[in-house]
Amino acid sequence: MEEISNFIKTIMINDLESGKCKSILTRFPPEPNAYLHIGHARAIITNFELAESLNGKTNLRFDDTNPAKEDVEFVEAIKNDIEWLGYHPAKILFGSDYFDQTYDLAIKLIKKGLAYVCDLNQEEISKYRGDFNNPGIDSPYRNRSIEENLELFKNMREGKYQEGEKVLRAKIDMTSPNINMRDPVLYRILYINHHRTGNKWCIYPMYDFAHPIQDAIEGITHSLCSLEYDNHRPLYDWVVEKCEMPHIPQQIEFGRLNITDTIMSKRYLRELVNTNKVTGYDDPRMPTLVGLARRGYTPDSIKNFVKASGLSRINSTIEGNMLEHFLREDLKLKSSRLMAVLDPLKVVITNYEDDKIEYVEALNNSENEDLGSRKIAFSKNIYIERSDFELEKPNKHYKRLALGVEVRLFHAYFIKANDVVYDKDGQIIEVHCTYDPLTKSGSGFNERKPNGTIHFVEATTAIPTTFNLFETLVIDNPEDKRSFIERLNPNSWMVKKGYIEKVKDHFDVLEKFQFIRDGYYAVDKNSKDDDLIFNRIVSLKSSVK
Ligand code: ATP
Ligand code: MG
Repeated sequence: MEEISNFIKTIMINDLESGKCKSILTRFPPEPNAYLHIGHARAIITNFELAESLNGKTNLRFDDTNPAKEDVEFVEAIKNDIEWLGYHPAKILFGSDYFDQTYDLAIKLIKKGLAYVCDLNQEEISKYRGDFNNPGIDSPYRNRSIEENLELFKNMREGKYQEGEKVLRAKIDMTSPNINMRDPVLYRILYINHHRTGNKWCIYPMYDFAHPIQDAIEGITHSLCSLEYDNHRPLYDWVVEKCEMPHIPQQIEFGRLNITDTIMSKRYLRELVNTNKVTGYDDPRMPTLVGLARRGYTPDSIKNFVKASGLSRINSTIEGNMLEHFLREDLKLKSSRLMAVLDPLKVVITNYEDDKIEYVEALNNSENEDLGSRKIAFSKNIYIERSDFELEKPNKHYKRLALGVEVRLFHAYFIKANDVVYDKDGQIIEVHCTYDPLTKSGSGFNERKPNGTIHFVEATTAIPTTFNLFETLVIDNPEDKRSFIERLNPNSWMVKKGYIEKVKDHFDVLEKFQFIRDGYYAVDKNSKDDDLIFNRIVSLKSSVK
């Protein structure tokens, strides 16, 4: 796998060489309020691999300072996702572990005259804050005495006020060009049960106050986060300095990863799940790590994709088909190549003996003999793909079966179509063909060139199979300004009923195959041996050769 290398690694190496830090400690800080998506994979991979490449470590720290939407379900899911990607946190920690220390540091700031209790409500606070063009105005509560602030903050903690009645704010500069520095809120009142601390607290620290403190307590050397935190960095540094933290962590921002034709925000993913637009967080169309895993994406394909997408201080939007490329690369030599017919058309070989089945031995993967071989059945009754037959050959580029036309069947014989049978609605239900015994696969027959090669499955042994085929969840179009819910792709999940060759009796969930001339597939979690279900992970790049 590719080595990770980027501007952050350069900073880390310099810091090690200059002695600014002795070893690297990073952290991945998810908020446990949803499942992780592939954008988070960029942050995970960057943190873990950069640290590891320099003999450092990475903590997993749950940023659980906003109990409103957090839940243990998400804590467990996030741990599993990270494990699935193949990373092992040095420690698993929770922001809420530091609530006591964070509270003490708030008191310290009050005592230093650097924080005050403010009675303005949310609306007033944002009005007083001004905007890019207008400086803010001091809150009328800004000059409360240290004693009064200590008393009021203690009362906040003791639950003497309603939510929104009072907040604790940093006393910085209401005229700062950086709006984040205009007396940001440090603590707010929330009467919500926390998934870990229960009802011990009714005040909770804001991310901008809690995060630098947590990083400093843990000894994080490089605190990596996405670009939107760029203008929070002065506040980050202010908190570390004014709280007189003995360890000074360094925040470094990187660009977010976005992918076309999907949705990469927790809020929207939650909406899709809660409004039943998808079957759950692990719906195979979702860009969540659990969704990608269920669909059949491998950790390596995701890691290689993220690494190839590069890392810089610019947000990047990558074409979804690049991820597909890395899945194909990963599975190309690892998966057996079988024949599957998704939309079956019955073919009767009229000159073949009744009730006879013969077998041809074939490699499971012609590029990797280690995957062994199997026996492919052939008989009078087979299925081919409906799209591999036309009554008349339409043009010289058409390389499939038609009346009067001969094609090769993979691992079997040349067959020629002579006749068709229709049902009462005029639909073709059977093609009658003859085969040429001289053309058996492996015989070296080369006297005629067939009109292409198609695949098939033997009808009596074939396993009935359900195939789930996916398209993108949404359709991106710069001209289309509708909301993502209105842009959902109605064809994002299609179901086909067909057959695969009988290669074995038992299939494990997530077992992966290439179905030749079609794509890569994985066994779905709801699949059973007597009710097989496959998910198409990706199609082959060039479908018909
Ligand atoms: P979202 O914006 O999708 O709701 P978030 O940023 O609120 O996600 P967090 O749980 O706070 O989600 O994210 C944990 C870490 O993952 C943060 O450091 C965040 O910067 C990073 N991260 C989230 N989304 C992306 C992305 N698309 N690309 C890169 N990093 C990301
Ligand atoms: Mg966030």
